[in-house]
Amino acid sequence: MTTRSADASPYPRLLIDVGAIRRNYARIQSLTGTADVAAVVKADAYGLGAATIAPALADAGAQHFFVANGREGASLRAALGPDPSIFVLHGYWTEDAPLIEASGLIPVINTPGQLQDWLNGSGGDFALHFDTGINRLGIPMSQLAAVQERCAERKPCLVMSHFACADEPGHRLNRDQIDRFAGVRAAFPGVRTSLANSAGCLLGGDALGDLVRPGIALYGGAPGSGKHPFESAVQIEAPILQVRRATRPETAGYGATWCAEGDCMLATVALGYADGIHRAAQNGGYGRLDGIKVPIAGRVSMDLITLDVTSAGDAAHPGAMVSFLGEDLDAFANASGTLAYEVLTRLGARFERVYR
Ligand SMILES: *Cc1c(COP(=O)(O)O)cnc(C)c1O
Repeated sequence: MTTRSADASPYPRLLIDVGAIRRNYARIQSLTGTADVAAVVKADAYGLGAATIAPALADAGAQHFFVANGREGASLRAALGPDPSIFVLHGYWTEDAPLIEASGLIPVINTPGQLQDWLNGSGGDFALHFDTGINRLGIPMSQLAAVQERCAERKPCLVMSHFACADEPGHRLNRDQIDRFAGVRAAFPGVRTSLANSAGCLLGGDALGDLVRPGIALYGGAPGSGKHPFESAVQIEAPILQVRRATRPETAGYGATWCAEGDCMLATVALGYADGIHRAAQNGGYGRLDGIKVPIAGRVSMDLITLDVTSAGDAAHPGAMVSFLGEDLDAFANASGTLAYEVLTRLGARFERVYR
């Protein structure tokens, strides 16, 4: 029971399946017909490593990429080379002018003031983002006519908007936003349009536009609450450091919140909230040992999680690897009271990241 395999390691690692990400890209392409599929790789490709993933997506056919800010754009340019277009979602800031020029980035302009600054300073491509109802970023619809006029001489290369509720297909705001975006389209005839995030890609039809902008679907997370066709691309492997027996009424972990129901086996793995695992995952989160579900027992601590491995029998021994996320990504996010988006982007720097 305490055998140790020769290649046992005390380090947790993150296995990132680049092939699955490429297949998800192809799946989105087949769902969205003639629309071009961009890749949203902000926040270091949702925490998975844009320097590796973006070139693989370019190889799979992506010619357009979206990042949050200019610095992300500059690193992405270094990874992708000169050809793909890189859009910067957080707007045009004059502080970024040298960086945008040097890296050939396309600012997504979010206010009339940014448009003014850009037209005064640069002859380069730009996109216009209109706020059709999320009230987050983007030019208010009340400014559409004024902005259209400002662009009489120099047209944007893309007009876009962003859904607030695409993850709820029946929500009436989806229809309202599509209708308002039709007004944007009409004001900029011949300019390419972009509306759909991952969940919007699943809405289909007039939710799509010419260029779709999926992020989470590429990485295999659920875009909404329903079933989805995307393959999980991320698995944690955390080694068991120690195994012990516990019997009722023994407890485990800080606060003694978990109590053994009978004779059971506990295994403690090298993984914790410092690696980005939410403490809330203690309420129903689980890993898998040899494919068998092993629930979290007691509180998640900084560098350790204790699991009830009773059902896994002899598979539980020091050095054995317990896997997390993978096909269980959405269930794990749900137990943690959050979404796959937050689970992925919080995965910590301590993991060794292994790409395959
Ligand atoms: C993050 C983001 C996306 C991608 O969203 P997903 O839900 O991950 O597909 C698309 N467009 C904008 C404006 C975003 O901020």
